[in-house]
Amino acid sequence: MIIVRRVIIYHSSTHQLHAPVHEFFEGALIPYQESPTRANIVLTALREAGGHEIRLPTDHGWEPIRAIHDSAYLDWFKSAYPAWLAAGGSTSGAVADTFAVRQLKRRPNHPKAALGYYALDATTVITDGTFQAAYDSAQVAICAAEALSQGSRSAFALCRPPGHHAHADLCGGYCFLNNAAIAAQWLIDHSTAEPSGPVRAVILDVDFHHGNGTQDIFYRRSDVLFVSIHADPDRQYPYFSGGAAEVGEGEGVGATINIPLPARINDHAYLTILDQACDRISDYRPNWLVVSLGVDTFEGDPLGDFALTNEAYTLIGRSLAELNLSTLFVMEGGYAIAQLGQNITSVLGGFESFKAT
Ligand SMILES: [Zn+2]
Repeated sequence: MIIVRRVIIYHSSTHQLHAPVHEFFEGALIPYQESPTRANIVLTALREAGGHEIRLPTDHGWEPIRAIHDSAYLDWFKSAYPAWLAAGGSTSGAVADTFAVRQLKRRPNHPKAALGYYALDATTVITDGTFQAAYDSAQVAICAAEALSQGSRSAFALCRPPGHHAHADLCGGYCFLNNAAIAAQWLIDHSTAEPSGPVRAVILDVDFHHGNGTQDIFYRRSDVLFVSIHADPDRQYPYFSGGAAEVGEGEGVGATINIPLPARINDHAYLTILDQACDRISDYRPNWLVVSLGVDTFEGDPLGDFALTNEAYTLIGRSLAELNLSTLFVMEGGYAIAQLGQNITSVLGGFESFKAT
């Protein structure tokens, strides 16, 4: 008899505390696309799929978050919304209108100005419950990492808000705390090193958008291989990073791999490229695999321009399973609400269906 090992699910209902009303998108004020509905739909789909153990996170405190994020940034984030209100800001959410770009380096004290110092765009609207939601989202990722370190083959962290656009001291792209980076660091810090060498992790980012925050966090390190398959930043967010020439710096040279792709790429072409990326991952011989799982690569996604069908997600899951690594999936993007649950369950189903020979 073949026993199918189901992916363990971690989630927190407090993600719903983060519910900004609006965002600017292509010049228009529209409903906030990174909505609580997203995570609710995925959780419902996972429950309907059945067989998954669904767990709530426990609190592992600040230490694993401080291992990745700048302390001054965390202090600012914690008080950003009340400080914004005290400075006369709107209850619809704190959002920057002036940014500390290029030559502008001064760290201001005014609450409204600090937003533009710690944000790379205007999508990270901070409301009353945003900090709690982001903190708990990071705890979801940490608990899923802990499950792996305790022997589980795989886990899915249903994080919201997402994380891969967040730098050590910058929020952006709907992201505040870099859940995948926090989880990868946690795995490295809580592993027993093998006699053959140091503990190494891979973060494979398959979200439609380049994981600029994750790249920057590990850019000068050789113990975390960052592989990102994404839309060419010449035409898509985050525009200012994600080119193939970005390969790491110092000790990290060669430990960043960017694979920018053209618009309308189809299932076959995408999966061929994914398999090539998986070969690079195998060659690195990691102890852990963290997958930044965005499904805004779907053909109907309002934020994407790829042409992947639902069938691709089952095959993506299968390709990842073939790596035969302890694997942590961390939820990132995906905005085609009607198909979001099915696309995520297809990845996990494809992963579970692979039987190692
Ligand atoms: Zn994305």
